[in-house]
Amino acid sequence: MLETICDIMVDAYRRNWITSRDGNVSIRHHDRDHFYITPSGVRKQTLQPDQFKKIKLFNLRNSVAPFLTPHWEEESYTDISKNLKPSGEIPLHFGLQKRMGQHAGDVRVVVHVHPTYCIAAMHAGIDLSTISNAFPELNRYTKVAHNVGDVPPISQELADQCHHHLELDDQGNIAYDIVGIKGHGVVAIDTSPWRAYEHIERLEHICKIVLASGKHGN
Ligand SMILES: [Zn+2]
Repeated sequence: MLETICDIMVDAYRRNWITSRDGNVSIRHHDRDHFYITPSGVRKQTLQPDQFKKIKLFNLRNSVAPFLTPHWEEESYTDISKNLKPSGEIPLHFGLQKRMGQHAGDVRVVVHVHPTYCIAAMHAGIDLSTISNAFPELNRYTKVAHNVGDVPPISQELADQCHHHLELDDQGNIAYDIVGIKGHGVVAIDTSPWRAYEHIERLEHICKIVLASGKHGN
């Protein structure tokens, strides 16, 4: 699936959802105590699977280590990735990957990009969750959280606010598939790279329609 993640980042670049070095993705298989994340600062249109960073997870099981909080460390993966750093948004990804909630028997993929019309809509004062209610072809497949407000990029605050708005609980369950961050981008979660990507695609399409209509309805 790392190759598929490379494919979606190329596609995101072609759609102007990211500039060259933006965006980040993580993936975890439920039976592994590690996840993979895109490296920081590399050109996403030439991203390769051997550039990913492997992140080992510690203290995952409360029953075994009730007093220890989960944390992560980089684990060696490939010679190429050795000299790269994990994405600066790793607190966002770590929070969603340390426990997988409703994806606990499967795979969890977290995709963060900067789609034009989603960001434009939030900039215009539109709450993405509110407009999603008016479009059944969006909300029957994609649950949209209320927007996160202005928070600094690559910060714990961004991570905490995204987790809060997704209603992330201690077991890793989330109530929504996608959340927007004002002035910045979106984060989508699902069981494959393309499924997560489709949440973004649907929301972006609706934002484009709403902005074209000139009627924000909220
Ligand atoms: Zn970003």
